Amino acid sequence: MPRRLYACTPSRLNTWLDCRRRYRFTYLDRPAPQKGPPWAHNSLGASVHNALAAWWREPYERRTPVLAGILLTNGWITEGYRDAQQSGEQLARAREMVSGYTATLDPSDEPVGVERTVGTRTKVIAVSGRIDRLDRRGDELVVVDYKTGRRPLTPDDARSSLALAIYAIAASRMLRTPCHKVELHHLPTGEIVEWEHTDESLGRHLRRAEEVAVEAAEADERFRDGDTGGFEPSPGPLCSWCDFRRHCPEGQAAAPERRPWDALST
Ligand code: SF4
Repeated sequence: MPRRLYACTPSRLNTWLDCRRRYRFTYLDRPAPQKGPPWAHNSLGASVHNALAAWWREPYERRTPVLAGILLTNGWITEGYRDAQQSGEQLARAREMVSGYTATLDPSDEPVGVERTVGTRTKVIAVSGRIDRLDRRGDELVVVDYKTGRRPLTPDDARSSLALAIYAIAASRMLRTPCHKVELHHLPTGEIVEWEHTDESLGRHLRRAEEVAVEAAEADERFRDGDTGGFEPSPGPLCSWCDFRRHCPEGQAAAPERRPWDALST
């Protein structure tokens, strides 16, 4: 019997690669184990992404830096902060981020898509995901991903991202337009790091995605048949930030517990 296509997102594939126990908690266990409290840095990231998406949906003449700040304030997500004061301070910081960033944009430069879902299929996977922004530059599409974390980015982050490569392939196939460039726009510094893929490097990412999908699909099948083995933990520093660490003794031993707002200052 031909195997069913493995339907996934890049995030699902990355979770399998990062930690199989977290994969099981996230995608297989039902009811899913209870997560820890919301993270302030996720609230900040979501608020900024929502504001930028809303900014592009406004009519051209309203797309000003001031409006970006207003949209951010109106949609500010307050979960995860230590208190109202910290939330307010971060709101001010994020407002500067979005108004500073939008001041560098040409509001008439209409993107091809904003928070656009794209997908593609191979003989192994049906993969889909949402692109923050898809631009057209000349004859090519460019995948743009917004980043709000503190860590500075390098071109290697853009080059090695499975998600960005999959988005480039999917966008290109759906819109029948070449797409090789992927960009990370680091909002806190305004820096843009980019990578120009070749057809070959994109193909390598897609084959990698298929390899991961085959492994994960087999594990999913075994799990459905009642075999819960093969979902070993991968303890390491990132366990501090795992939503499921309360259910994972190995993760608790590997990395210290963090408060929901700790990533704002690291
Ligand atoms: S705490 Fe670490 S080892 Fe445990 S599930 Fe989360 S990421 Fe995996």
